[in-house]
Amino acid sequence: MNSAMRPYFGRSSRLAVALGLLALSGLAARPALAEERAKDLFGAEKLPAAAAAQSIGFYSKGCFAGGVAIPMDGPTWEVMRPSRNRRWGHPAMIAVIEKLSRDAAADGWPGLLIGDISQPRGGPMLTGHASHQIGLDADIWLTPMPSRPLSIAQRESMSATLMVDEKTHLVKDALWKPQHTALLKRAASYPEVERILVNPGIKKKLCDTVKGDRTWLRKIRPFWGHDYHFHMRIGCQPGSPNCKAQEATPADDGCGKPLAWWFTEEPWRPNKNPDAPKARDVMTMANLPKECRAVLDAPGPASAEAATYRGGAIPVAVAEPDVPSLPATAASGTAGLPGTLNAFTSTPEVGVPVPRPRPPAH
Ligand SMILES: [Zn+2]
Repeated sequence: MNSAMRPYFGRSSRLAVALGLLALSGLAARPALAEERAKDLFGAEKLPAAAAAQSIGFYSKGCFAGGVAIPMDGPTWEVMRPSRNRRWGHPAMIAVIEKLSRDAAADGWPGLLIGDISQPRGGPMLTGHASHQIGLDADIWLTPMPSRPLSIAQRESMSATLMVDEKTHLVKDALWKPQHTALLKRAASYPEVERILVNPGIKKKLCDTVKGDRTWLRKIRPFWGHDYHFHMRIGCQPGSPNCKAQEATPADDGCGKPLAWWFTEEPWRPNKNPDAPKARDVMTMANLPKECRAVLDAPGPASAEAATYRGGAIPVAVAEPDVPSLPATAASGTAGLPGTLNAFTSTPEVGVPVPRPRPPAH
């Protein structure tokens, strides 16, 4: 942290003073202890780590710096469940959501209701989601944006539409519209988007009805839940040497045997051990890449507004050459964890673009 950055990162000077006082008083300022639960630490962060954008670790075991928020409202979107403060993502993720909202509107979808993206600095969440930890995942409701603006209270309480019959695991035909298919096709069309998670019933509906170009079905992946929303995941972005990519999806449309498995009893058997802790509940700082400590310790911007994406140009956190980068070291090992297969839950959030102030040049 150099002095030139203090006008922008006002918190850093206060932090420096606080650390100095701690040293004088004989109390050592300590980094997060290895055994502390990561979700408590990351769940308490209100603002992103002000640094060049970087995803660290894996979708279900990591964190990120340089996050930006999508504005609460845009011409073609609204952020849902705003109190969760999960409208943060890697700038590339936010840009994709904003683009999807515009393209989808042109396709005839009235606008996006945006669910959870990530916490300001990512990491495991206090509730819901195994993934969404590195700023590259976003949930979008399968309910179109209503014509009248939603109040904050409505965004907290409004229910999404359940698209799938819970007994048959098939899409409710009365609810599924060609616009749903068009929305998923549009999302899958972006090169950044590597996979889209949907309920198996939705995948089956697409397999049964999509005519013509079916190559995009490769990215549509069946998974538990995802019957109120779909989950859009983009790949690791440039500038993130410690971001761990997910294995590529198979080249075929995924409508054959792997999909048939979802319509057997096996995936739906009751959990034999429902009280077993989920990975996110027991994950400690020692389980996360060690760079995530620096992400926790990094200063934040002056306000959420200062880190809100306004479209167009690359957000400041990426573009500023004098913003410090976190050290790029080899990905660190992580201790064993319980399986992280299943913790997605339905949820929502998002926003739009304005240039952020540059720090004064020195
Ligand atoms: Zn999700």
